[in-house]
Amino acid sequence: MKIYIDGDFYAKEDAKISVYDHGLLYGDGVFEGIRIYNDRIFRLKEHIKRLYLSAGAILLDIGITQDAMITAVQKTVEANKKKDGYIRLVVTRGVGNLGLNPFTCKKASIIIIVDDIQLYPEEHYEKGISIITSSVRRIPPDSLDPRIKSLNYLNNIMAKTEAIQAGCLEALMLNQQGYVAECTGDNIFYIKDRALFTPASSLGALQGITRDVVIEAAEKAGITFREAATTTYDLYTSDECFLTGTAAEMIPVVTIDGRTIGNGKPGEITLDLKKAFMKSITACE
Ligand code: PMP
Repeated sequence: MKIYIDGDFYAKEDAKISVYDHGLLYGDGVFEGIRIYNDRIFRLKEHIKRLYLSAGAILLDIGITQDAMITAVQKTVEANKKKDGYIRLVVTRGVGNLGLNPFTCKKASIIIIVDDIQLYPEEHYEKGISIITSSVRRIPPDSLDPRIKSLNYLNNIMAKTEAIQAGCLEALMLNQQGYVAECTGDNIFYIKDRALFTPASSLGALQGITRDVVIEAAEKAGITFREAATTTYDLYTSDECFLTGTAAEMIPVVTIDGRTIGNGKPGEITLDLKKAFMKSITACE
């Protein structure tokens, strides 16, 4: 395994960063999770664009151009000879002193890891998963906009902890107004009367790349789609529900807070969309 740190490659056991890095001290930084399918990096440009938007929003100067970042990711994938896998691209604020002030950090650090990922056990992709609504609300946009994919995941981790303690793999997170935002590491969709809905990202969701792929697939298939202010009632009474994410891909949800969704099995439109989704990822569209 060859891990990229600031232009050089290191073996896993030697890939280390400073304990004075503000990424570690304060979760000050941004990241992306990206897939490699069939020797091709899926939606790399879109991920890099989102990374730079996140960095810009927190006044983090990455220090290299988007094109240079694309080349660095491609080189790291080639060095690891991975046909299928997962890339974790991390940009930290860099080394500073022990105070909060980000301007003491002179240069951002760039880390690229290429590895494997399996977020949920295989059987759940066929049978679907159960989720709960977490008591932890999504951070409001005027505190830290959830569209920024920052290294600061404590909000999500607290909700994920609640899910695991309740025997579930994922938790739904509501925004401060009580509308559904997203799950801890995935976006959520539901189907009602053959139309597809997902919460608008302005309601507290990350603008998922997988979310965009699914929306494109739905539009191609002629399925009516709308971003909608969503409550748990909308989800409880939906006909079908599923989650999307780079690591999770597309996974059906069959119960929410003990309520059965549809007939308790992955729905027909979900399965059709999943087929279209798998086709588009293997073709790396
Ligand atoms: N929401 C959150 C909070 C996430 O961390 C992620 C990524 N794991 C997603 C949604 C899904 O985004 P993407 O499809 O770009 O991976």
